[in-house]
Amino acid sequence: MIVIDEKRIFREIEERRPVSVALNGPDGILPKIQETASKIMEKFGIPAYVMADSCFGSCDLNTNGMKVLGAELLFHIGHTINSTSFGDNIILVDAFDNISFETIAKKCASEFAGKTIALITDSQHLHEVEKVKKILEENHVKVKIGKGKGQLNDGQVFGCEFYPAMETKDEVDVNLFLGQSNFHASGIALSTNIPTYVLDPYFNEIREVTEFAQRLQKKAILTIYKAAEADSFGIIIGLKEGQFSKTTGLKFKKELENLGKKVQLFALTEISDDRLRNLKDIDAFIQVACPRISTDNQFHKPVLSTPQANALLKILKKEGMEGFLQIPHWL
Ligand code: SF4
Repeated sequence: MIVIDEKRIFREIEERRPVSVALNGPDGILPKIQETASKIMEKFGIPAYVMADSCFGSCDLNTNGMKVLGAELLFHIGHTINSTSFGDNIILVDAFDNISFETIAKKCASEFAGKTIALITDSQHLHEVEKVKKILEENHVKVKIGKGKGQLNDGQVFGCEFYPAMETKDEVDVNLFLGQSNFHASGIALSTNIPTYVLDPYFNEIREVTEFAQRLQKKAILTIYKAAEADSFGIIIGLKEGQFSKTTGLKFKKELENLGKKVQLFALTEISDDRLRNLKDIDAFIQVACPRISTDNQFHKPVLSTPQANALLKILKKEGMEGFLQIPHWL
């Protein structure tokens, strides 16, 4: 069950007495966020707006929504990073999953006894890392936890950022991801290129995601080769503030034009195949927002992420593109 750190929210409201607040977080915990918003309205008698647009990371705060609503504070819930706020009015609130990993960790210990493993997880299960490490070490599994960097805590990854996993990849036999997210685990498998397993405490199962990740990589490569045949490109700048990368978009424009390609520039908040179908005379797109939009979704035309676009430029210049996803940050 997800537990939101409501004490922190209530404390901030008591101290700062805002006239209204907004809350947002990932889809999976929206029902819990609704409950918290109701408690705020009851306890403090102020409007608490749940901003219910999709919200995939701390890169996707929707501060514009907060401004339009006139909310004085935004509580961004469930994307724990190594700081507690962005500026004065945006407060990052932890939401932990209180499921225990004890049973699955013991099962895992017998499967990986004698091996060296990297422990990695997402925001919701960070508090379980040390407990699982202890169980594994007591059962003769060597455990490594990579150091955090940027916004990442030790042992933590985002869907596009893998510094702790990259730090340990040459010292371990496998990666073990604590949680249920094949999305995060497949990113770890792709960036480190070593076998990766999910320790899922809900299904009490250890599942390997290496093959699934390889299928994502094949699809990403195929898309790059299709884009290499294109004459006209659309470069999409994402309008979500933490994914805004105009400089990278303009760099790709210049490089493609130098290679004789036609380029148009677009800006979108939500990049979906439905929106792209409205645009004409474009053979392939490059989007410089969230890289997982390209690797994990289906589009009717090639839509490359930043690392794929870098690989494309190498192909067009007759250079090798190996290892384009084996980098710690896909931006
Ligand atoms: S850019 Fe995409 S993958 Fe990276 S943190 Fe944001 S939502 Fe997650």
